[in-house]
Amino acid sequence: MKLNRMLRMGMVGGGPNAFIGEVHRRAARMDGQITLVGGAFDINPALSKKMGKTLYLDSSRVYSTYQELIEKESALPEGERMDFVSVCTPNNWHFPIARDLLEAGFHVMCEKPMTLNVKEARELVRLVKKTKRIFGLMHNYTGYPMVKLARDVVKRGDLGKIRKVVVRYPQGWLSTALEKTGQMQASWRTDPKQSGGSGCGGDIGTHAENLAEYITGLKITELNAELTAFVPGRRLDDDVNCLVKFGRHAKGILHVSQISAGEENNLAIWVYGEKAGLEWHQENPNHLNLKRQDQPMEVWKRGNPYIGKRSKAAERATRLPSGHPEAFFEAFANNYVNFADTVRAKLEGRKPDPLALDFPSVEDGLRGMLFLETLLASARSKQKWTKFKS
Ligand code: NAD
Repeated sequence: MKLNRMLRMGMVGGGPNAFIGEVHRRAARMDGQITLVGGAFDINPALSKKMGKTLYLDSSRVYSTYQELIEKESALPEGERMDFVSVCTPNNWHFPIARDLLEAGFHVMCEKPMTLNVKEARELVRLVKKTKRIFGLMHNYTGYPMVKLARDVVKRGDLGKIRKVVVRYPQGWLSTALEKTGQMQASWRTDPKQSGGSGCGGDIGTHAENLAEYITGLKITELNAELTAFVPGRRLDDDVNCLVKFGRHAKGILHVSQISAGEENNLAIWVYGEKAGLEWHQENPNHLNLKRQDQPMEVWKRGNPYIGKRSKAAERATRLPSGHPEAFFEAFANNYVNFADTVRAKLEGRKPDPLALDFPSVEDGLRGMLFLETLLASARSKQKWTKFKS
């Protein structure tokens, strides 16, 4: 039966001064499919209530803890309770919260890295299968139209067989011991208990791994990594240099860093096949460069009719005409709109549009954890080259 209403969203995390929760809230409402009805917004219950007031939410649905959210929302009639909950807390909370939400029957949108380790990730994969709930993971960089175009250009064989992938993600914001000043985002990211076994690798290395695998359709099977904590006293890596192999035929370089002074959010990828190459820069996301040997470079621009002819997914992920830049918020919204369409199809008891299934999944979350496990094993080892356990 047709669901004649917006989907009801809840949120865990995203309290006052938090970074990504507000991005989720703006992105989720962009397409008029989702409305935020409540949440447990902060580890401090008083700040959760404060956030609820700032957002003009019904105070009866602003909770002190995620456990209270699950208990009270589950007690509401089916037609009133939250349809899904977005988890926007530090990494250590993702697993227990997502697990409890799935077990209580909620669909889940979760921030990356999905869990703290492979064991937890496998448990979430198992639970998603068992509960038949929809699970989205916020690897937002695959939400960009030109990244979807890049993926479809590779899939069509325009580059030929892929040989080489270079993905880099330098930032500079942790060049000094920011965590010692009490800065919220730096404090938990540099604490192994809250962040996980790898700092920079988990925080942005998983984005680089996900982007490379999404565009190429290949899986990293083996890697050789060096992890460094450059800032004195820092307990987790702030710089990662890594050689990667995608099976036997393609190789590449993945480097991510949070001490590359002066860099902002300089994620970029180059993919080279036997016939041609492509290049995409997150800081100039509306363009995709196509390079053919002995020919001038082509700059493909988002929003033009020729894009839709090559990629329905890129066309679907575009809201504005060419020359009107779209970026970070829209990429998040693209994951939300596909996730929401899939949840809506589930609630209406029908199959989703295949294009709507294009959002990062629990399986992608497991890939991220396998990547981190292998990264850490390689960094600690003498032989260096280390295979994924699969
Ligand atoms: P943050 O420190 O800015 O905010 C975290 C919020 O979670 C705070 O409000 C905190 O009080 C709240 N919180 C902590 N534990 C909680 C709990 N048990 N229950 C309820 N609320 C709780 O962190 P952030 O930078 O927004 O990062 C949050 C998550 O988002 C991290 O997993 C991070 O890796 C991810 N992230 C993803 C992207 C992206 O591009 N996809 C960007 C930034 C952060």
